[in-house]
Amino acid sequence: MSAQHVHLTFDDGPDPRWTPQILDLLAQARMHATFFAIGECAQREPALMRSVAAGGHAVGNHTFSHRHPWLMRSRAARAQVRDGAKTLSDGKTYDNNLTILSVTRRKDFSYSTL
Ligand SMILES: [Zn+2]
Repeated sequence: MSAQHVHLTFDDGPDPRWTPQILDLLAQARMHATFFAIGECAQREPALMRSVAAGGHAVGNHTFSHRHPWLMRSRAARAQVRDGAKTLSDGKTYDNNLTILSVTRRKDFSYSTL
């Protein structure tokens, strides 16, 4: 029999209202999650990103400004992913000791993690 797993993910943060509450609940439950962070939000809330890191959670790249990549030219979409990843891996944004996931869309509309 194989083990069953649930992976918790939270998008669109860090958010000063919701992220601390989520972190508290996860800590109480002794669970970890992946936070798909928006680059410009991470720049505004470096303390929250440090809290995410301190809790042992993973961070995923949810683009720099949360513009939908299907509604822009491919160069601009790539820039959104690149700038989001750069911000999340920038030691100036927060003390980075995290696993940064970058999710990209393939031509067949499936997603891959870099
Ligand atoms: Zn989103």
